[in-house]
Amino acid sequence: TTSNQELQNRKTKVIARGQGNMYPVYVERAENSEIWDVEGNRYIDFGAGIAVCNTGHSHPKVVAAAKAQLDKFSHTCVMVNPYEVAVELAEKLIDIAPGDSEKKAIFVSTGAEAVENCVKIARAHTGRRGVIAFNGGFHGRTNLTMALTGKITPYKNLFGPFPGDIFHAPFPIECHDITVKQSLKALENLFKVDIAPSDVAAIIVEPVQGEGGFYAAPTEFLQALRQLCDQHGIMLIADEIQTGFGRTGKMFAFEHSGVEADLMTMAKGIAGGFPIAAVVGKSEVMDAPLPGGLGGTYGGSPVACAAALAVLDIIEEESLVERSAHIGEQFNHRLSQLKTAFPELVLEVRNQGSMIAMELIQNGDAEQPNTELTQAIIAHAAKNGLVLLACGFYGNVIRFLPPLTITDEVLTEGLDAFENMFKEL
Ligand code: PLP
Repeated sequence: TTSNQELQNRKTKVIARGQGNMYPVYVERAENSEIWDVEGNRYIDFGAGIAVCNTGHSHPKVVAAAKAQLDKFSHTCVMVNPYEVAVELAEKLIDIAPGDSEKKAIFVSTGAEAVENCVKIARAHTGRRGVIAFNGGFHGRTNLTMALTGKITPYKNLFGPFPGDIFHAPFPIECHDITVKQSLKALENLFKVDIAPSDVAAIIVEPVQGEGGFYAAPTEFLQALRQLCDQHGIMLIADEIQTGFGRTGKMFAFEHSGVEADLMTMAKGIAGGFPIAAVVGKSEVMDAPLPGGLGGTYGGSPVACAAALAVLDIIEEESLVERSAHIGEQFNHRLSQLKTAFPELVLEVRNQGSMIAMELIQNGDAEQPNTELTQAIIAHAAKNGLVLLACGFYGNVIRFLPPLTITDEVLTEGLDAFENMFKEL
């Protein structure tokens, strides 16, 4: 049999380091919240393929739906010969999207494309050029989405020049003393100095910054953005790529604030691992581009649509939105004990549903990120059968994104392993 190390040696010869992995664990198979590598080692998955496998790995219903669709046909292109699964998925996504406005959808293949299309649609609808995003935000790795992304390393350095007319404002983060008031004041200044609000097409915001460190936008902040957008005719774009499909204890995170965006992105958790993403937005906005101006060859793949329909059924049948809130509470309870035991190292344990984070610092100083310890924990976790991810501007936040289908038993086993490991390091 092949070993992890042999595969890693082969990989580094043929796959560029830009698409690097953090540690060599090569997957043989995965089931619900467990992964087995090529050497037969078992791992508890607290990453869910970066918030993709909300319904767990290889859920039998998702597998069956995809197989059944493959047996019928695998591709014709929505823009040539469309099919019912795409129509049905659009109907269902519109139905679960927050807010009461009449809505329409489009399908693409990746999160970054969904973001790009939101900007295209917002510009087409408003006839304006400017887009405002937030410091620390992450929106993807294509040229426009890199420009929107706030975090520089490794997403932006070496890759410029970027498209113009993109502006950044501070995102409110309580534990780093950036208040909602300061963020709104900065936006006000931006409108005076950099771009008139009448030239701004859109403001894009993650309801919980994902790659940026799992900081939830306060309700009053999202409400103020909504008000600002209404006042100036600006489109509010909700980037729900990481937060969607039950991840935060609501179907979509904007529901926590009661705010309705004009356009929203959906990806990751939408189809249990099949590459599909969507933009859902107000009909009059969505219909601004001309026929043929949106989409792509693979957008709305029938196999991915069939998988997504199964995912939506599972979320409902297994009450995964409620389960997400419950899992988050369990994590928070256990991790908070570690914060109490190690106040010098843990700045904060926070969660919105099952988007759970532990921010690590040095010497009890909130402004001294502990990137080294975070990396050590993640590498050590892999050796101890636990898949963890990092995030944050300085890479000093451990993020936990368990499948929402994880059993209490495996959850407790994983948390025990994490606690023991944390104490050992
Ligand atoms: N936007 C957010 C909030 C994300 O978390 C991500 C991915 O991590 C993206 C956009 C980009 O999605 P993709 O990697 O599918 O292009």
